[in-house]
Amino acid sequence: MNVADILDSLNEYQRQAVAAPTGSYLILAGAGSGKTRVLTHRIAWLIQTAGVSPHGILAVTFTNKAAAEMRARIESLMATPLRGMWVGTFHGIAHRLLRSHWQEAGLAQNFQILDGDDQLRLVKRVLTSLNLDEKKWPARQALYFINAQKDEGLRPRHIEDHGDLYIKTHLSIYSAYETACQRGGMVDFAELLLRAHELWLNNPRLLQHYQDRFAQLLVDEFQDTNTIQYAWLRLLAGERNNILVVGDDDQSIYGWRGAKIENIQRFSTDFPGSQVIKLEQNYRSTGSILKAANGLISANPSRLGKELWTEAGDGEQISLYAAFNEVDEARYIVARIKDWVTQGNNYAECAILYRSNAQSRVLEEALLRSHLPYRIYGGQRFFERMEIRNVLAYMRLLGNKDADAAFERVVNTPSRGIGDRSIDEIRQLARSKNISMWQAAIFLKDHGQATGRTKKAIEGFLTLIDTMDAATADADLAELCETVIRMSELREYYEKETGERGQARLENLQELITAARTFEPESASDFTDPDDVAPLSLLEEFLNHAALEAGDGQGDANQDCVQLMTLHSAKGLEFPLVFLGGMEEGLFPHKMSLEEPGRLEEERRLCYVGVTRAMQQLYLTYAESRRINGTETYNRMSRFVKEIPEDLIQEVRSQQSVVRPAAGGFAGAGLRPQGNQWSSRPAAGSSIRGLTSFAAAELGGTSLKLGQRVIHSKFGEGVVINYEGEGKQARIQVNFKSDGSKWLMMAYANLQPA
Ligand code: ATP
Ligand code: MG
Repeated sequence: MNVADILDSLNEYQRQAVAAPTGSYLILAGAGSGKTRVLTHRIAWLIQTAGVSPHGILAVTFTNKAAAEMRARIESLMATPLRGMWVGTFHGIAHRLLRSHWQEAGLAQNFQILDGDDQLRLVKRVLTSLNLDEKKWPARQALYFINAQKDEGLRPRHIEDHGDLYIKTHLSIYSAYETACQRGGMVDFAELLLRAHELWLNNPRLLQHYQDRFAQLLVDEFQDTNTIQYAWLRLLAGERNNILVVGDDDQSIYGWRGAKIENIQRFSTDFPGSQVIKLEQNYRSTGSILKAANGLISANPSRLGKELWTEAGDGEQISLYAAFNEVDEARYIVARIKDWVTQGNNYAECAILYRSNAQSRVLEEALLRSHLPYRIYGGQRFFERMEIRNVLAYMRLLGNKDADAAFERVVNTPSRGIGDRSIDEIRQLARSKNISMWQAAIFLKDHGQATGRTKKAIEGFLTLIDTMDAATADADLAELCETVIRMSELREYYEKETGERGQARLENLQELITAARTFEPESASDFTDPDDVAPLSLLEEFLNHAALEAGDGQGDANQDCVQLMTLHSAKGLEFPLVFLGGMEEGLFPHKMSLEEPGRLEEERRLCYVGVTRAMQQLYLTYAESRRINGTETYNRMSRFVKEIPEDLIQEVRSQQSVVRPAAGGFAGAGLRPQGNQWSSRPAAGSSIRGLTSFAAAELGGTSLKLGQRVIHSKFGEGVVINYEGEGKQARIQVNFKSDGSKWLMMAYANLQPA
């Protein structure tokens, strides 16, 4: 592309930014206004007209995916592959620097990067070496302390304890941890950034070299930089001051991880002579979506203030679906995606975004059932998560003591003093005697050479499993799951993990119990003759289901598939069709955000990020009752929905009049209204226009509705809680007063209204 073409595809303000003389610039602009586009075009412009070599350009963005995308876009603009240009994430670039200058950085040549789990194990070893009781000084808390200090650029020597025992102890852990890392040649993520900063601070000649080399710096998503990243950029920019950053204060969503929105304000002071350029035209979304985003974000106080507009028409209204429960929500979303594809569109154009990873399980299951290809980004699939695998391994071991992989996984998780050497010994014994590890462990306990302590630990584990086995002899699947989580002490183990991550793990454990409670075997033994079904135990069926879900179904990166991700990982991306699920108070805004000042605003910005991902059509959905993290919740619709101007929204209800059972309904049915929350929503058919009846249409042909009380000749009275399929294949799930929930073939069930 030639120079004129580069500028041609830009508006006046974008052009001004792209073709500006070298200097420092802050492009402050709302979502979809072309910030990333300006950044890539600026690079092309610099190379083509300002004679800057690709070698002299350093561009930083937020994720590896974004970096790859950026490079591809620039190369396509230039119609040639670019060598020598550094495009990457802060961590990636810091790593590269440290690899090249390990000596100056004081590192071993072959230094290793520690991930979160390795880091935690190391902190535990440090606690032991310092004789600190982990109950009093949880490793996860110490880890959090260390990371937070590093993000602020602080070494132990920079921190005053002011006689505070908490700080004092954590400082000693931090110091010992540093020594251990240094001795072992290990570097954690936060250390990469801090070390790269210090590398330049302590080596002026090296810094000079990079300042000379990188004549142009460009930074995307600037609003989410933390203290050390900002300091690093300032050092590199030096006197020359050629730096262009693009960002949006309304999209700052990483405050909880140390990002400093203030960096935007500081920029103008710290980079003298810098200019601010604003972009206000949005090219991504329809008028309705944009107005919704503007309305929503205007509820935040203290914004830098900008209003987006578009030349595009209003497009479709935003749809709001009030689902009966989370299963209904997922089914609705899947149905809309099917419609979309039937109209000749692709799966990859659809994104389902959610606040919390625990929401993805039900969505995944709905997609799997309908055989729609999908891919989850920025988070593992539910059954692949470490905490879930651990619980499942215990369950598998209970079902079959000779399951070696399960044995290996849990024998020392949580840690119970059975070290790697002992496990190795068990493994070798099992191999030489051709017995399972379980049997080998018994043998070792009775006849082995191991020390008294190791023997005791092994015995403790064997007894634990036997006790669990006995305790769960009559348990149903959910009880089994719950007992395993409790008796294995996995819950306590994850409780010690501070921050969002620990919270997420605990939520996932609860979600697993829910999955077990609502699990319906594929063989659908409820309506087949029990004698025809192979006698697979429910536990086995559940474990098979989990294993299959973990392995298959997920499309690869290049396949056309529906995109699932958290709102946090959707930053910078765009999709023609977007679903924001779980628009409920307590879920989004997340209940934890209501306790700390400033967090609600950050949640609102996150919602703004979500809304502005949509190009053509946006669906907001919420569930009147939701089983999540093991409990039934009855949340009100999110305040964020109410902050969107009403005339932009078209409400779709599951039915115009859902028949709700009286309070105190059936256990586990998920249909117990609490307090007066039902009545706090606007009544169906109120001022919002355009009601349609989705679920009623799909239940089609029958007069049954979700939530309706029915009578079955054998099982008695129950409530309709779910359904799937059509015509002869249609199945209906009823929660019976005496027998609990059952799937029945609609054609044969002969249900009568109660
Ligand atoms: P976000 O804040 O979400 O990161 P952004 O400001 O980086 O958004 P871009 O992703 O650069 O926005 O642009 C949004 C969309 O608008 C892209 O599809 C981009 O190609 C398109 N776009 C931007 N500017 C123009 C323009 N002048 N003409 C046509 N399309 C444009
Ligand atoms: Mg962008």
